[in-house]
Amino acid sequence: MIPVRGYDGLRVAVLGLGRSGLAAARALREGGAEALVWDDSAEARSLAEAEGFTLHDLSRDSAFDDIASLIVSPGIPHLYPTPNPHIARALRLGVPVDNDIGLFFQSFASDEWDGYVTMPRVVAVTGSNGKSTTSALLHHVMQHVKRESQLAGNIGRGVLDIDPAEDGEVVVLELSSYQTELARSLTPDIAVFTNLSPDHLDRHGGIGGYFAAKRRLFAEGGPDRAVIGVDEAEGQYLANQMSYGAADDRVIRISVTRKLSGPGWNIFARKGFLSEYRKGRQMASIDLRSVRGLPGSHNHQNACAAYAVARSLGLAPRVIEAAFHTFAGLPHRSQLVGEAEGVTWVNDSKATNVASAGKALQAFKDIRWIAGGLGKDGGIEALQEQLGAVRKAYLIGHSAREFALQLGETPYEICDTMAAAVAAVARDAKAGDTVLLAPAAASFDQYPDFEKRGEDFIACVQDVLSGE
Ligand code: ADP
Repeated sequence: MIPVRGYDGLRVAVLGLGRSGLAAARALREGGAEALVWDDSAEARSLAEAEGFTLHDLSRDSAFDDIASLIVSPGIPHLYPTPNPHIARALRLGVPVDNDIGLFFQSFASDEWDGYVTMPRVVAVTGSNGKSTTSALLHHVMQHVKRESQLAGNIGRGVLDIDPAEDGEVVVLELSSYQTELARSLTPDIAVFTNLSPDHLDRHGGIGGYFAAKRRLFAEGGPDRAVIGVDEAEGQYLANQMSYGAADDRVIRISVTRKLSGPGWNIFARKGFLSEYRKGRQMASIDLRSVRGLPGSHNHQNACAAYAVARSLGLAPRVIEAAFHTFAGLPHRSQLVGEAEGVTWVNDSKATNVASAGKALQAFKDIRWIAGGLGKDGGIEALQEQLGAVRKAYLIGHSAREFALQLGETPYEICDTMAAAVAAVARDAKAGDTVLLAPAAASFDQYPDFEKRGEDFIACVQDVLSGE
């Protein structure tokens, strides 16, 4: 745990008692603060009470008297579409609102570091897609070279749950836009921006607000190095703002759509090969086509980002390449779940938006596509161009009929449930086909989360493959 500094003897309110809220309350207590906790759910409150925390009803008149700060969980809206009433009140009263990420950056460095040979480094990864894969891959590379590393944030543990850093340790944080928007301190040593596509727009008042939330990771603290995907205008703008000129290697630009030339530090992947150029000279090249855990150009983008950070940390290209080959990939992201009779079954339940589903559709050929769920604005309209490899779509969930109308000439079948979809695919699939669950929709109409949806898919596939 990272004890929170700066609040010793002060009263701090914590709103939202999920994983990160409870971790924040514990870390505040450890740092000497009085953590006063609240959640609108009685069940969450009783869990916190069982840990000895004092419940503090934030709707009471005097609730914010003598409160030094309000710490809130990422799931609770603080601005759009409408602020949570407790947060709105704190904002009105001028009580500082922060989150666990802000507390982490404020508390991470300790006096112990004075005796270290190599300063610990914090790498923070944001972007619309690829955050988890990039973060996990980087952590894996660090483990491969036996460098101390911890993975936290939106993936793995809450940031305040990690252990204090050891000499030379690397901490990899995956940060969502909800987290970067609110944190009052954001001071990573290396910041990564993978890409940008519309998502969560209701929480950010549109795409501009969404980008601004991610941009804070670069603008607030001024990282020593910024790794930036420049395949969208936003990334180009960010890279431009972070550098003094094209030769400034404080920024590493990455791309999977074009060869990056220029005097700076550039890493790009084309036709399955990653290339690194610095000062106009090629430094290294890696063949990514045989890296099984990172299929498709979207994963090559993640590989470029993780490679860029690893190079910044002083690792040699061949060591990074060797680590890539032992990366198993993450569950629910282009996850290979079965191979039988020439048919490959892939679980990409995490493809909850059209951008990520589109990437998955580009990564495979002869696809039997299982899609649908709680569709987002525009449905799958934006995927028209990516349907070329789809032999047939099997539609499930709330948006099944809406998606069917947007498929053009692509054959489809309305299956409604996962079990029915998997059974229909098993009946149709031929050797050489890839069965791909890439829903392009949220899971909440039929499942508690995308993980449960992916697990259901895996269970259905196993039933089919075992002949049950
Ligand atoms: P995040 O943590 O940003 O949601 P993940 O690594 O969990 O990212 O991947 C989320 C979804 O996006 C998965 O469906 C995955 O296959 C897809 N994906 C992964 N990397 C990228 C990328 N660089 N660009 C677009 N889609 C991606």
